[in-house]
Amino acid sequence: TEACLGAVEAGGALGAFVHKTPELALERARAADARLKAGAAPALCGIPLGIKDLFCTEGVASQAASRILDGFRPEYESTVSAQLRDAGAVMLGKLNMDEFAMGSSNETSVYGPAVNPWKVDERKLTPGGSSGGSAAAVAADLCLAATGTDTGGSIRQPAAFTGIVGLKPTYGRCSRWGIVAFASSLDQAGPMTKTVRDAAILLQAMAGHDPKDSTSADLPVPDFEAMLSGDIRGRKIGIPREYRMEGMPQEIEDLWAKGAEMLRDAGAEIVDISLPHTKYALPAYYVIAPAEASSNLARYDGVRYGYRAKLEQGDGIVDMYEKTRAEGFGAEVKRRVMVGTYVLSAGFYDAYYNRARKVRTLIKRDFEQAFDQGVDAILTPATPSAAFGLGEMGQADPVEMYLNDIFTVTVNLAGLPGISVPAGLDRKGLPLGLQLIGKPWEEGPLLDVAEALE
Ligand code: GLN
Repeated sequence: TEACLGAVEAGGALGAFVHKTPELALERARAADARLKAGAAPALCGIPLGIKDLFCTEGVASQAASRILDGFRPEYESTVSAQLRDAGAVMLGKLNMDEFAMGSSNETSVYGPAVNPWKVDERKLTPGGSSGGSAAAVAADLCLAATGTDTGGSIRQPAAFTGIVGLKPTYGRCSRWGIVAFASSLDQAGPMTKTVRDAAILLQAMAGHDPKDSTSADLPVPDFEAMLSGDIRGRKIGIPREYRMEGMPQEIEDLWAKGAEMLRDAGAEIVDISLPHTKYALPAYYVIAPAEASSNLARYDGVRYGYRAKLEQGDGIVDMYEKTRAEGFGAEVKRRVMVGTYVLSAGFYDAYYNRARKVRTLIKRDFEQAFDQGVDAILTPATPSAAFGLGEMGQADPVEMYLNDIFTVTVNLAGLPGISVPAGLDRKGLPLGLQLIGKPWEEGPLLDVAEALE
């Protein structure tokens, strides 16, 4: 813990940690020492972690990287971070992210962006987003692992951009209780780690049924680490032809082919599959996610907690709401709230929101059909490119930024587990990731296949 706290200070320029908790960390580390001495060390005893700012942490600022949660110190701990704490983990502090987890570059954060520790020239690169601080912190060895959340790719894309492992579990595997909600039917917490084995160990502590989240699954949590067999002979890996997008860079194609080759060499059977509704995933996601966000974010009104705008003589309660939300939310969040409100409005509900929900069902069915044909896991690129420069993407057109999620959003829409594994470097020497998608509740077998790519 002391070494990591030193690294956190030394790595301050990365902007990864936004609220540091060194005293609390040392206190928990001492408690871990005592438990070790008593011979009762739990799984993560003394392991220093970073926690994404989206998780509510008792007595510690939890702001979702938004001005509107300025000064908010929850009186409670999220289930996932509580389970990690109970397993002995030591929280070093809270990690940077896009505001309310909306973004792919960490640039919508009220704290300013986190920076990718990878560098090939003078440019500062994004660590991806929204879990950019988590990715930067793990890649730069500021902590041993971190929590992330993934609504449309926010664990897997930053993992790919920084050369680490990121796992989005099956929807319902981890409790969402105490995690600031973005799009409740898509949000899922997961581990960001240096290795697949670490991801298995961390998921073990994060997962499990929670009566406080009605969408968390009441299923046993298997021993994920024990399921790393190192033997994937006979596993059937699907290569979905629709993910071969037009204009896909050659090096991404090559990486994908190399990944398939590695799995074949390990004894897996590689088969071509079709997921015909893939091209509708991004539009459907960018209707459903803003719709849910607009509803979830209605609660930030300046009344009970967080930021409240300064009011003038004669201002009424509506003025307070308006000023607070105008000053408290950033531009991307406002865009989502407006898009979401629009697609949910009486006149457009059927044309947009209901249509998107139907598309979502079709996407889910595509995956079910592939799995029914005996496919165990699906291999795709994690992102359409390596990390890009800060300030270089989506300035004129936000859709350019949204296209980053092209390979990842399908997995959230279908509720499946997906993992990004570092798979090599691009021409310039920047990390690239491959994604494996698994069957519902089969994170164990998924991790097993993922290890063969390491
Ligand atoms: N980049 C996507 C978005 O902005 C996904 C974000 C996420 O997974 N939290 O919605």
